[in-house]
Amino acid sequence: MRSSYAKIRDAINPSAYMNIDVHACYYQLIYALKITYKYSLQPNIFHQKLLGSCSEMMGKKLIMVPGPTNVPDSVMRAMIKPIISHRSEEFRRLYESLTENMRYLFQTEGDVFALTVSGTGGVDCMIYNTISPGDKVVIPVFGLFSERMKQAIIRRGGKPIEIRASWGKCPTAEQIREAIEREGNIKAIAIVYNETSTGVTFRDLPQIGKIAQENDLLLLVDAVSILGGDELPVDRWKVDICVTASQKCIACPPGLALFSVSERAWEIIEKTQRPFYFDMIMMREFDGKSETPFTPSIPLFYALDEALKIIREEGLSRRFTRHKICSEAFYDAVETLGLEPLPEKAVRSQTVITFKIPEGIDGAAIRRIMDEKYGVVIAGGAGKLKESTLRIGCMGIISEKETMLTIYALENALQSLGYKFEYGSGVEAARMRFQ
Ligand code: PLP
Repeated sequence: MRSSYAKIRDAINPSAYMNIDVHACYYQLIYALKITYKYSLQPNIFHQKLLGSCSEMMGKKLIMVPGPTNVPDSVMRAMIKPIISHRSEEFRRLYESLTENMRYLFQTEGDVFALTVSGTGGVDCMIYNTISPGDKVVIPVFGLFSERMKQAIIRRGGKPIEIRASWGKCPTAEQIREAIEREGNIKAIAIVYNETSTGVTFRDLPQIGKIAQENDLLLLVDAVSILGGDELPVDRWKVDICVTASQKCIACPPGLALFSVSERAWEIIEKTQRPFYFDMIMMREFDGKSETPFTPSIPLFYALDEALKIIREEGLSRRFTRHKICSEAFYDAVETLGLEPLPEKAVRSQTVITFKIPEGIDGAAIRRIMDEKYGVVIAGGAGKLKESTLRIGCMGIISEKETMLTIYALENALQSLGYKFEYGSGVEAARMRFQ
């Protein structure tokens, strides 16, 4: 046994702990974990101490909430570039680079914009530029964020036609088609593609694009917690406006909303009475000279530029596969531990993992132990699922390292709270996905 522990120690390069890159350090840890399992050792206090001290030493935590998420060091460093004038040639070059890379991200030939607001601002902007008072909008409501989008439509004076599903389930394309036929005179379909509150992805979205086109309706999509982590080709799927935010699958700090606009959407926007700051026509006019109408967050534009370059370098297809594999590892681990993912298999998200807190276990304590002892931060439930579920963000730079360490910390937290399961089985189940 002693020599096996020595093997683990040898696998860890102590100099990694002096490195400021937390991910290099985590890599050392995951390697140690692998060796542990290879030699069939029970993960023990040695690892726990190591993991805890690592995150402390780095002064950084592993942020595994469904946004904001971990940001690569190069993206953080991009923000300390000197401030430039937003009416300068330098800014115009930055703007053009952003535009080109956003088109790649959204898979569109259409127009794309970055706006200095959070995701909610982006959703408001989309609604207020397309919906007029009295307009009927079909909207599936199946969690907190679709509920919020419905509220935004109501505030605007629109009339939401709700297609409801219980939280954890997902309405279908067929239900939407029926509602359109039944109601008549609909202006738009508004959909949250990934319900961050439940971890449900609206997998029928490609069919909805066809339905929208056949019925000459606008398709408005909130893809805040999914774009960049799963497939969403906006042109091919006929999405008219697609909104996302910087702090999730793009792995950039919070503060920017990004969106794409189709030709069909412009026809409606031109006829809509628009707000001032959120006026998309004004944005398009300034876009003509590679500028924004108002002062943007220049540091965030630099960060986004770097984050998008990283995405482009990796390639969307590889990025989506990476998210998929990590999410499968999470689901396998969760189920092996006897925990229950909230959504049915067919609609499970590959960017937000939501599972039920087991009977008799304190969910807040799980999170507290993971955070305080291991420096791994996961989220509680959202809205009415606050007390009954936990959520893990599987976003951005997510890889084997972050996945395995999160599961390891989760297992240890569960064990210290007296939950009965085969210790090590979650880590082992997840590890199989990375063979
Ligand atoms: N829409 C969805 C699906 C989200 O997950 C979120 C945030 O988690 C938002 C909108 C709101 O984004 P923000 O908090 O950046 O305003």
